[in-house]
Amino acid sequence: MTLAHRIRLVPSAEQEVYFRKVCGVARFAYNWALTEWQRLYAAGEKPSEIALRKALNAIKHEQFPWMREATKNAPQQAIKNLGRAYAGFFEDVKKYRRNELPWKRVRVPKFKKKGKTHDSFRADNGCDAQHPDAVAVDGARVKLPIIGWVKMREEVRFAGQIISVTISREADTWYASFTIDVPEEPAVHVLTNTVGVDLGVTALATRSDDAPKVPAPKPLRRYLKKLQRLSRALSRKQRGSRNRAKAKTTLARLHARIRHIRQDALHKLTTDLVRTAATIVIEDLNVAGMLANRHLSRAIADLGFFAFRRQLEYKTAMAGGVLIVADRWYPSSKLCSVCDTKNERLALSERIWTCASCGTSLDRDINAAVNLARYPESWAGSACGAEGAGRRHQTTVKPAA
Ligand SMILES: [Zn+2]
Repeated sequence: MTLAHRIRLVPSAEQEVYFRKVCGVARFAYNWALTEWQRLYAAGEKPSEIALRKALNAIKHEQFPWMREATKNAPQQAIKNLGRAYAGFFEDVKKYRRNELPWKRVRVPKFKKKGKTHDSFRADNGCDAQHPDAVAVDGARVKLPIIGWVKMREEVRFAGQIISVTISREADTWYASFTIDVPEEPAVHVLTNTVGVDLGVTALATRSDDAPKVPAPKPLRRYLKKLQRLSRALSRKQRGSRNRAKAKTTLARLHARIRHIRQDALHKLTTDLVRTAATIVIEDLNVAGMLANRHLSRAIADLGFFAFRRQLEYKTAMAGGVLIVADRWYPSSKLCSVCDTKNERLALSERIWTCASCGTSLDRDINAAVNLARYPESWAGSACGAEGAGRRHQTTVKPAA
C-alpha cells in the first residue's frame, strides 16, 4: 500500500535559496506550459502535457539555460500537474454541461503568481534515469537531487520504498512530503479487545473502556483567538504594502501552527487507539452534517473526519487490527447501553441523561462509545429502511492521497 508522511525540513540558508529557486523554475514551467496550451488550443490543436514536456525539454537548454540549476524533475512534474489541472477542468466542464455544477465552481487552470504563501516542487525518485538514487533517506535527513543532504525534524515513519518526494513551503517553513510503498504483511494484533470510540465537542474522543476521555488540544482556543485578531489586522493593511506582506506571512505561519496542533492531536489519538485495541468501532459521520451541527471538536471537524478515518484505516491494517464503521443510522447516542431502549427525544445539549425505562444515569459520550463497542453484526437499520442499513463493514486500506 502507498502511505504518505510529511516532515518538516531544517535547511541551511544556502539550501533554502536553492529551494526557492527550484520553486521558481517549477512555477515558470507551469506558466510556460499553460501559455503554450492556450496558444495551441486557440490554433485548433489538441495540447497534451506529454507533448509540452517534450517541447520544453527541446528548447530549455537554449532558451532557459538557468533551468539547469534545478532538478529536472521540477519542471517536468509542474507540467504533469498542469495536465492534471486540465483533466480536472474537463471533468468539471462535463458536470457543468449536465447542470451538476455552476460555472463559478469550475476549476479553470490559472497562472501561478509569485509571492504566494505556498510553493512546491517535486523531486521524483526512480524517474530520473541519470540519478537513480537521487532521493535517499538516512535517519533524520534526506538526500535530494543536486542539493544533497537536508536535515529533517524526524525520521520517515514507514519502512518501504520511497516513490516520490515533494518539497513545499508554507509561510517560511519547508516540508518534505514522502510517498512510500509499504509492503503489506498480514499482521496479527497482539490484543483481542474491542473498543468503541465516540467523537465529540467537549472531549476529542471517548472510549468504551475505562480509559479516560481524550481532551481536545488546549492551545487551540488561544491560537484561534489570535487568528481572528491577525485576520482583522491584515484586512486593515493597505494592499500592496510591505506591512501587508508581513502580516500575511504572520497569519500564514499561525494557520500552519494551528493545523499542526490538530494533526498532532489526531495522530496521537489514532496511534494510541490502534496500539490499545484490536477492533475499533467508529461512527460513520458525513462531513457536511457534522460541520453543520458542530457535533465535533474543532480539532476533528476542521481536519475532517476523513483524516481520522483514513489514519485508523492504515494504522489498524499495519497493526493487524480491524476497523468497523458503524452504519450512519445506528443510534449510538440515543440507545440506552443497559436496556436497549431508544430515547427519541435526547437533545444534543444533554450531556447526562436518565433512561426512562431502566433508570440508569448515562454519560452521553460514554454511553455512545459503549453502544459502538457492542455494535451488532445484525443491526437492521432505521425503520425508514435507510440505504445500506445494517451493513457491518470492515474497511480495506486505500492508498494515501
Ligand atoms: Zn435503560
